[in-house]
Formats: sequence, structure tokens, C-alpha cells
Amino acid sequence: MKLLTLNFLSCAVKACKSSSASFPLHPKDCELESAEIAPNPKLLFNILPRIDWDALVVTASELGFTSLKATPPTNEELEGDEKMMTDLHTLLLETQIMEGSLVCANCGHEYKVKEGIANFLLPNHLV
Ligand SMILES: [Zn+2]
Repeated sequence: MKLLTLNFLSCAVKACKSSSASFPLHPKDCELESAEIAPNPKLLFNILPRIDWDALVVTASELGFTSLKATPPTNEELEGDEKMMTDLHTLLLETQIMEGSLVCANCGHEYKVKEGIANFLLPNHLV
């Protein structure tokens, strides 16, 4: 799963829906892989407004990417900064979580990631 996906997932446990701690999920013991994808500035410009930047900064730093600024770049800033463009492209579109877990900070549930696919099925007692 792409790292970008984490920006759109929160814990599926009912009691966590109302908790701000259920987003973003926190990667744990994750194995990353980088898939080379052709740069696509238009796609990045489209994605950026939909991203929860604060959550992205958290996720990125937990996975060892520390080059993100605290505030999202404007399109103009991004256009004038090739390094930032490349970094975001690498981070959002090329970086994949292959193995590991995604942990909810509210309930502690761990969603397993296997072969790049996160399992969001909950055990019966949590549904
Ligand atoms: Zn939860």
C-alpha cells in the first residue's frame, strides 16, 4: 500500500470514530519498498489539497522521512522547488508499505499489512 493511503485511513473500530487519536494510524515495524513511478506534477498538485498535512508529517517522520515542512507548500512554492517536488513524489507515490502493522493510537488495535495489503477486517468482538 502506498504511504499516501495512510492519509485516508482511520481506525475501523466503532468506538474510535469519534476520537481524533484514531487518525492517522501509526506504522509499526514496517518494511518499505520503493516502486519507481514516472514523475507527474499534475497529479501531485491534485493530491495536495486533499491531504491532511499534519497527519502526513506524523506518518512521514514515523517512517524516517524528516524533510517535510510543518506547513503544506502552495502550488507556486512546489513548482519552484524541484527537490520538494521529488521528495513528495517519492514519499506519497513511490513509497509502499509491504509488511508490518498500522496501529490505532486510541484503541491499540494493530492492522496487519502483508504483501502490501492492509487487512481492515476486525475480529468479531470489535465490530
Ligand atoms: Zn481504534
